[in-house]
Amino acid sequence: MSSSHVLVLNCGSSSLKFAIIDIHSGSEALSGLAECLAEQQPLIKYKYDGKKQTITLNPGDAHQIAITRLVELVKQLNLDKHLIAVGHRVVHGGEHFTHSVSITPEVIEAIKQTSALAPLHNPANLLGIEAAQKAFASLPQVAVFDTAFHQTMEPKAFLYALPYSLYKEHGIRRYGFHGTSHYYVSAQAHNILGLNKDNSRIISAHLGNGCSVTAIKNGQSVDTSMGLTPLEGLMMGTRSGDIDPGIFAFLVNQLKYSPTQVDLLLNKQSGLLGISELSNDCRTIEEAAAQGHEQAQLALDIFCYRLAKQIAAFVVPLGGLDALIFTGGIGENSDAIRDKVISQLGFLGLTLDQDKNLTARFGQSGVITTNDSPCAIVIPTNEEWVIATDAATIAQEQ
Ligand code: AMP
Repeated sequence: MSSSHVLVLNCGSSSLKFAIIDIHSGSEALSGLAECLAEQQPLIKYKYDGKKQTITLNPGDAHQIAITRLVELVKQLNLDKHLIAVGHRVVHGGEHFTHSVSITPEVIEAIKQTSALAPLHNPANLLGIEAAQKAFASLPQVAVFDTAFHQTMEPKAFLYALPYSLYKEHGIRRYGFHGTSHYYVSAQAHNILGLNKDNSRIISAHLGNGCSVTAIKNGQSVDTSMGLTPLEGLMMGTRSGDIDPGIFAFLVNQLKYSPTQVDLLLNKQSGLLGISELSNDCRTIEEAAAQGHEQAQLALDIFCYRLAKQIAAFVVPLGGLDALIFTGGIGENSDAIRDKVISQLGFLGLTLDQDKNLTARFGQSGVITTNDSPCAIVIPTNEEWVIATDAATIAQEQ
């Protein structure tokens, strides 16, 4: 095994996703997930040498325990000797970061300052960074930001129509998220479809538990559906997406919700789950709808209608459409949702090829429209790969 591997850490609020990636071949020497970190029985599930294994962790300071145990595992498997860098996913980079950076004390300070904008995510990301710095003191550590790709948006796209002082003094503006994914799939689309990067108009729909759409002109994000936080925009698994902001005051003043309860309602109890009253999981909703569950069907109808409206809206900043990309767990696998969305976009000339749509799934890229239609394409995302290659590039420059 050569020294060409990067440890990728994605330390979330209740889980830690990790992978060791060979940047020459793209293969994963180790991959896994520490989950249920906020619960009684945290676990690490990992795949090494084709075999799946589980480690049970003690509850308590679960992030720290999970990272310590992961480091032990990496050393036990002798993988640490092949590492050239550690790449960290950081959710919110605010306006500080327009691209990936080598982690210095100043970078850590800037991530801390931005924590007010992502109170669940940035502190967890910092835990991962601090633990990895201790465990792998000699390795370069690199931060890759979900927000960085969207820093090319112009003020007319990123400002809310609020008093300007809220932006200047408190940074209240639209930042956008899933940037690593939107960047990766749009770069792939340029290659696969032979698009000219100086003259291309792409819309990418990242549809997973979280969902966002981005308008990408000549390789740069010009608008995106998420905002200050990952709550704005599309309907998601448990998140409401756009609502009338007046609902907040109604819930607080009339129904006596606390601000924390409103936050919980909008982030955890809404979306597919809220409408279906069944599940946040798209597969479960699709199965229930097929068996006649009316609210599951309504949840799918709203999801697709709002998604189609958002895609159509993003043709405005692009002035046309060369490619529409579907990615994320839903975008890559649900032929039914792709069908329902594209059938509402016929006025843009989009025409689905039913056979191609049915076969584009399980990690396969593929065009799903007819030859005479503007292109819609399924491209599996790979955020870990972007983090690994950015980390390797920055490590080699040092
Ligand atoms: P992600 O956050 O990208 O892992 O995506 C998770 C979402 O993808 C969940 O809502 C899953 O139900 C959905 N998903 C995964 N596989 C399928 C599938 N075959 N059909 C429909 N939805 C799927």
